[in-house]
Amino acid sequence: MDQYAVLGNPVKHSRSPRIHQLFAQQLGVEIEYRAIPVELGAFSDTVRSFFLAGGRGINITLPFKQEAFQLAEVHSQRALRAEAVNTLLLGKNNLFYGDNTDGVGLLRDLQRLQFPLEGRRILLLGAGGAARGVLAPLLEARPAEVTIANRDEGRAALLAHAFGDLGRVRSAAYRDLSGSYPVIINATSASLAGELPPLPEHILTQGGYAYDMMYGSQPTIFMHWALQAGAAEVHDGLGMLIEQAAESFFLWRHQRPDTAPVLATLRAELAG
Ligand code: NDP
Repeated sequence: MDQYAVLGNPVKHSRSPRIHQLFAQQLGVEIEYRAIPVELGAFSDTVRSFFLAGGRGINITLPFKQEAFQLAEVHSQRALRAEAVNTLLLGKNNLFYGDNTDGVGLLRDLQRLQFPLEGRRILLLGAGGAARGVLAPLLEARPAEVTIANRDEGRAALLAHAFGDLGRVRSAAYRDLSGSYPVIINATSASLAGELPPLPEHILTQGGYAYDMMYGSQPTIFMHWALQAGAAEVHDGLGMLIEQAAESFFLWRHQRPDTAPVLATLRAELAG
């Protein structure tokens, strides 16, 4: 049976094994997909042993995406842009091929949800790995502009500089944000700690769209904030998680699962 795994620390609660099992069931194939906890310092050895034993593909989650980028010998364009790898496979000449499917995962989910992006001002909160991974595909959707806001302004400025060739992108401190944005995407990990980024009042356009990359059994604090701020559409990141998984599955097996029923199942399982 073809073997896959997600490597991370911690990784016990990862939904990826469940998602990939559902993809496999849907497509009538049998795979084994495990969550493997990896000690810091043991990442590359674990990857090598997994592939030496015949493994077919690996997903990488926190905190190893940059290390996976270093380990990959060949990179997709989107991995090069993100400077992070969340999907590994053995490519031509048995070289490690690294890709990053987070950005396309977000964009597919935003398309499913019919977020208007083209010609709009988008506010992206956060300048960590998730923000970096989604910037290129976001800019490809041809927004009027992307503003990156982050507590550490320097990180936001570096990102804006790195992606400036792909479209209009600028950075701002939270306190300097002005006007209102019809689309706000939360790529911070603040919701994880039950915190809100320090957003000024009226920053979300009435009837606007809000997306939190975090997900859980309950709406996040950011989703509550957005509803109170007058958002018409508010969503969490479960759809993004499933779409990035579907893209990894496609890279490994050249088969594209239908994500809608898997999202419905995962949503029900989360709620239950
Ligand atoms: P990083 O640790 O790389 O970055 C964290 C970011 O959050 C930084 O910009 C940090 O700001 C900011 N931040 C943390 N706490 C606060 C706070 N209280 N107020 C304001 N800003 C804060 O994490 P990632 O970028 O990898 O992940 C970010 C989130 O995205 C996580 O919740 C993760 O679960 C989610 N994610 C979801 C995915 C999905 O498929 N749905 C895929 C990938 C990520 P500063 O630089 O100032 O410290």
